[in-house]
Amino acid sequence: MECKDIKCPIHGQLSTRGAKLSGKVVSAKAKKTAIVEIDYTRYIYKYERYLRKRSRIPAYNPECINAKEGNVVDIAETRRLSKTKSFVVTGIIK
Ligand SMILES: [Zn+2]
Repeated sequence: MECKDIKCPIHGQLSTRGAKLSGKVVSAKAKKTAIVEIDYTRYIYKYERYLRKRSRIPAYNPECINAKEGNVVDIAETRRLSKTKSFVVTGIIK
């Protein structure tokens, strides 16, 4: 199938810049959107310990990649695509 999506990072006009992250898709219910959950740790000097943190990033999910719930994906920062989306899914890791 030919991909005609202009917001596709591989076949379209969309360029990426800035942060590149990877995480797990926790929701792919909204059209062409994947909610990607990212786990990371932050060091807290006062307690000399790591704090586990988690953030959810809404990312554009192009039809030719079509990430599903449970997939581990790469996402990259791009221009603002909607009110909440400024990341795009660039590939499925597993
Ligand atoms: Zn495509």
